[in-house]
This record gives sequence, C-alpha cells and structure tokens, in this order.
Amino acid sequence: MSSSKILLITGVSSGFGRALAEEALADGHRVVGTVRSADAKATFEALSSTGAAIARLLDVTDFDAIDGVVAEVEQTVGPVDVLVNNAGYGHEGILEESPLSEMRRQFDVNVFGAVAMIKAVLPFMRARRRGHILNITSMGGYITMPGISYYCGSKFALEGISEALGKEVAPFGIAVTAVAPGSFRTDWAGRSMVRSARSIGDYDALFDPIRQAREKKSGKQLGDPRKAARAMLTAIAADKPPAHLLLGSDALGLVKSELTALVQEIGAWEAVTLSTDG
Ligand code: NAP
Repeated sequence: MSSSKILLITGVSSGFGRALAEEALADGHRVVGTVRSADAKATFEALSSTGAAIARLLDVTDFDAIDGVVAEVEQTVGPVDVLVNNAGYGHEGILEESPLSEMRRQFDVNVFGAVAMIKAVLPFMRARRRGHILNITSMGGYITMPGISYYCGSKFALEGISEALGKEVAPFGIAVTAVAPGSFRTDWAGRSMVRSARSIGDYDALFDPIRQAREKKSGKQLGDPRKAARAMLTAIAADKPPAHLLLGSDALGLVKSELTALVQEIGAWEAVTLSTDG
C-alpha cells in the first residue's frame, strides 16, 4: 500500500468514480465521494466498515454550494490530497438539432462544475504546497465524431484548461492530470446519456447508424473501469504525474491517428500559414 491519502472524487455512484473509489479504498486511502441522492450516499458509505468511504451530497452545477462543501470536508475529514473531477455525462445530438440549453447544461456539468471544484480546492492545496488534480476528460477531448459536438467541445475545453492550469500551479507542487479514456463499460452511453430528439431528415443517413451503434455497444465497450481505476492510482502514486494520460487501446490508436493527420494538414498548408508574418 502506498501512503494513505484523502481523495475527493465527484460522481461516485457508478462508472469510473465508483471503480476508482473502490480501488482507492482497497489500497487504504480515504475517499470522499460526491453523490446526488440520500440512497446513493448510504450505498457509498456502506463500502467501508471503517468509515473510510465518506459521501457528500452535491450536484456540481450547484456552484454556490461547492466552496462550503470543500471547506467542510477539509475541516471535518482532513486535507484533500487528490481531487478527481469525474462527474460528467455525454450529450448526443446533431448540432443543428440540439438546443443551446443542452450545450449550456453540458458545459455547466463537464466544464464549469470541474472548474468550480478546482477553485474551491486550490487555496488549500496551494497553502500546503502539494496536491494532485485529475480531470476526467475523454478521447473526445482530442478526436471528434459527428453527433457529439457539445460533448467533444466540453472535453476539449477541459483538456485545455487542465494543461494551462498545470503550468500555473506546478510552482506550488500541485500536479494536474487530464485523464482521457476511450470507450469503457460504465453508464455513460446508457442511463446517463442525454440524447437530443431528431428533427432534420437531412442528417438521417449520417447520424442514425451512429446513434444505433452507440446504443447497441452500451455495456459491451472494450474498457474495464476497474483497470482504468488502477491506471489512475498509478498516476496518483507517481513522483511526476503526466499532464495527459490516455486510457485504452482505442484511445491510443484514434488519438495517434488524429495527431498524425493534424501534423500532415498543418504541413500541407504551411506556405499559407507562413504568408501572414511581417
Ligand atoms: P457514469 O457511470 O454515468 O457516471 C457518471 C457519474 O457522474 C455518476 O456518478 C453521476 O451521478 C455523476 N454526475 C453526472 N452529472 C452530475 C452532476 N451534475 N453533479 C454531480 N454528479 C454528476 O459514467 P462514467 O463513464 O463513469 O462517467 C465519468 C466521467 O468519465 C464523465 O466525465 C465522462 O464524460 C467520462 N468518460 C467516460 C467514458 C466512457 O466510455 N465511459 C469515456 C471517456 C470519458 P448520478 O448517478 O447522480 O447521475
């Protein structure tokens, strides 16, 4: 067992959050997990017979509540060594068909919620001159596909925020890791996904097969959340945690292809790019 830490993980009712909490508890860490119902709170706290699983009720879009919850955790549980911004969901829908309100909600949860958590935890970590923040992004923070533009936008945003933040807080001994999983067997594409209604027939040929394939694949994805949790614990235990960590062979293959294509396109347009100096 590595030295015992306190992890604060958002969204521990299922999926990655639950798996990471369980693996961290098994390693002897204490875990404060956020949930959104009294039932989920009781279920989570029952994971430990020694009181090491501590739940707090919080919706990460309840921005006014976040500072208070974090301050209370620091006071009553102890110093948060690791913040894991895991809470999030996928919005699926063709951009032209999906209301702006759904984009706002997607960014409120996946981006603003994570940033609000970071802002609440940073003063404590900065005062201690140590800490680690993990932001669960996605391979959709590097690669895109039609039908999840709002989701990819939110994950690109969190990737960029993570990387810039890491440069701001490194002098204080605080590490920031953006963890980008491929497809994993969680509730992401099942109960958690928000699917916009279809309204424009022009997109049927492109999008209907994508929506059907995602529904069919839900629960049968390649990635095992428990193995993702072990990988995250490896990053948490590292002396120099990475700024970016991909999880899964699908993420590795797709992101590498995307980066290669990006370099090729930049090269193909280099003369135009260089024509603007002076
Ligand atoms: P999941 O099983 O659906 O878990 C999502 C968790 O986030 C649940 O605990 C959920 O709580 C919580 N949550 C959602 N909205 C919230 C809010 N407004 N406030 C507080 N908690 C909220 O799916 P998951 O795959 O583990 O998702 C975790 C993260 O991984 C997400 O950020 C997701 O985008 C990312 N991700 C997933 C995959 C994948 O293939 N599974 C791939 C890449 C990235 P409730 O139970 O109350 O809804």
